[in-house]
Amino acid sequence: MSIRENVAQLLREVPEGVLIVAAAKSRSPDEIVEAVEAGISVIGENYVQEAELAFSRIGRRARWHFIGHLQKNKVKKAIEIFDMIETVDSVELAREIDRRCAQAGKVMPVLIEVNSAREAGKAGVYPENAEGLIREIARLSNIRVMGLMTMGPAVTRPEEARPYFAETRELSEHIRKMGLPNVEMRYLSMGMSATYRIAIEEGASIIRIGTRIFGERP
Ligand SMILES: *Cc1c(COP(=O)(O)O)cnc(C)c1O
Repeated sequence: MSIRENVAQLLREVPEGVLIVAAAKSRSPDEIVEAVEAGISVIGENYVQEAELAFSRIGRRARWHFIGHLQKNKVKKAIEIFDMIETVDSVELAREIDRRCAQAGKVMPVLIEVNSAREAGKAGVYPENAEGLIREIARLSNIRVMGLMTMGPAVTRPEEARPYFAETRELSEHIRKMGLPNVEMRYLSMGMSATYRIAIEEGASIIRIGTRIFGERP
C-alpha cells in the first residue's frame, strides 16, 4: 500500500483527539511530503540533522516533534525547528533547553520520557523518579511540561506492552493531581506501529507511527 493509503486508513481508524505523529527516521523528504499531503500534521524526528533536511522542504506546513535522544550540543538548532521535545529525561537537558529558549525568547513544550520497563541503559527516567524530575523542571521558566512519553519494552506480542502503558497513564494522573505550577499533563505519547491500538485503549493521546505509514525501514 502507498503512504497515502496508509495515512488515510490510520486517520479513519484512530479516534478523534488522538494525535498521529509520523515517525520519519530514515525516510526521504519526498516520503515525508507524501504523508503530509495525505493528512499527517505532525512529524517526529529522531535526529536533528535529518530534521533540518526535511524541515527545509516542508517548513511550517507541518508541526515537528523531537522523539530521539537529544544531545546538548544540538539543542540550539533543535529549538529552531521543533514545536515539542518529547524526550526530556534529565535536569541537565532541561536546563540547556531552558537556557537556549530564554536566549531565543521562546517557551518550549516538552514531554518527560519515562523508562516504563525500567530497562538499564535505555533512555527515560524511571517511573519512581519522574515526580522529582518534574518538580525540578517545573521551576524553569522557558520550558513547559505538557505530559509524558514512553517507548515501553520491545515485545513479541502487542498485548505485552499493556502494563507499561497502563503504569505510565497512572503516573501521569498522579502527577496531574498534584497540580504543580507550569505542569499540564495534557499529553500521553505512547504506542508505535505494533502497539498503538493497545496504547489508545490505555489512554494515549499521541501515537508515534513509522512502519505503518511508510512501510518497512530500508
Ligand atoms: C521509530 C520510532 C517510532 C515508530 O516505530 P514504528 O514501529 O516504525 O512505528 C516511534 N517512536 C520512536 C521514538 C521511534 O524512534
